[in-house]
Amino acid sequence: MSNELRTVIVGAGQAGARTAAALRRLDDAREIILIGEEQALPYERPPLSKDVLNGGTPSKTTIFPLDWYEAHRIALRAGVQAVGLDWRARQVLLAHGELLAYDDLVLATGVRPRLLTVPGANLEGVVTLRTVADSMSLSARLTAGANVVVIGGGFLGLEIAATGTARKCAVTVLEYGNDLLPRIFGGFLGSYLSDLHRMHRVEVRTGVKVTALEGDAAVAAVRLADGTAVPADVVVVAIGAAANDELALAAGADCADGVLVDAQARTSLPSIFAVGDVARQRTHWLGESVRVESWENAEVQALAAASAIAGVAPVAAAAPWFWTDQYDRNIQMLGNRVADDTVVIRGDVTAPSWCAFFVAENTIRGAVLINAGRERRNVKRLIETKQRIDCAEIADAGQPLPAQARAQT
Ligand SMILES: Cc1cc2nc3c(=O)[nH]c(=O)nc-3n(C[C@H](O)[C@H](O)[C@H](O)COP(=O)(O)OP(=O)(O)OC[C@H]3O[C@@H](n4cnc5c(N)ncnc54)[C@H](O)[C@@H]3O)c2cc1C
Repeated sequence: MSNELRTVIVGAGQAGARTAAALRRLDDAREIILIGEEQALPYERPPLSKDVLNGGTPSKTTIFPLDWYEAHRIALRAGVQAVGLDWRARQVLLAHGELLAYDDLVLATGVRPRLLTVPGANLEGVVTLRTVADSMSLSARLTAGANVVVIGGGFLGLEIAATGTARKCAVTVLEYGNDLLPRIFGGFLGSYLSDLHRMHRVEVRTGVKVTALEGDAAVAAVRLADGTAVPADVVVVAIGAAANDELALAAGADCADGVLVDAQARTSLPSIFAVGDVARQRTHWLGESVRVESWENAEVQALAAASAIAGVAPVAAAAPWFWTDQYDRNIQMLGNRVADDTVVIRGDVTAPSWCAFFVAENTIRGAVLINAGRERRNVKRLIETKQRIDCAEIADAGQPLPAQARAQT
């Protein structure tokens, strides 16, 4: 190794690429090596269940073109897997046997889909969605009239259902829980999304347990615990994800379905950071330590880790933000909600656009914006600054939100 400090980033997805970019911005001299097991240039995943699944161009999801890495002196090593980590020697072992020394290491290894363990789970036509290749292969199966069964009624499953419907498939969503999304804003969105999907002729079945996938070579039906069977030409398993935390775990870092990190993305091992979906962070916004699988979290943690490595002041923690697109609805979620927060509705919930605010002691703690992304900055600021609001005032869609009013004066 030369005299330059070297940062190795393992995992060339969104969080890995953004860490490399932020670190180069903050430190012009350091050597940066970005290792990724996928062959593709680092890309963003949100379009994979939306535009790309609907036939859109996969290359549009690429974060930076190839020559950008060269221009920014980031050594991108695609198609290379890291298989071991020795934190005492400060070395990463690559699958082809090379030992790569580092001064700082960033783990940005993401997650992998959880798989079903019932009989028939390996039949042809049973798929998951995480990569560009997954999205293109599922897209090819979404032919008009195909029976598509989505197992899991979380955001990913519901986006796949919406895209499947747009492709004129007959879609059924099977959810084990009694409601959709029970943990999201205290179940606030579950019944709204059930109604939205049913309105688009998706069969949403909650409180059902899958006991087997049936078929000869290819899947033909999903068997449920009540004995009934749902016909299926393709089954998409969308039952959550498991953290790719094996490297950290084997090296002795504190892990619990994710690598435990502090606000600067530091793990319990020296000079090792974890960012993005693989990181489990304690945050005052969401309470106990959580692993946040969101586009924004990958951006924010990448910047936090890069700042810590470069020795510059960390950016202030921001209220979490997540969005999903289903049919003609752009749904954005900000902050958090606790059980006894007052729910204040702004607008008409039967209209295509409205907002819900979760309020305690005259401050907004969380919000859901339906086709109201234009309010996001204001609402985020209201949440982060804990600005006192008047519930009647924010409920009145004819009045601008307080932060808007203040900004205009
Ligand atoms: C289909 C889909 C739709 C989504 N939609 C939304 C949305 O609408 N809104 C939103 O906020 N978020 C959405 N997300 C979530 C968002 O995309 C993720 O939070 C984000 O991709 C996390 O980035 P990451 O870099 O942590 O993980 P990833 O992007 O998964 O990158 C991790 C990379 O590390 C590589 N890797 C793993 N182990 C190794 C190893 N040992 N050696 C080398 N490389 C390794 C993996 O192959 C992968 O390329 C969506 C995710 C998916 C899958």
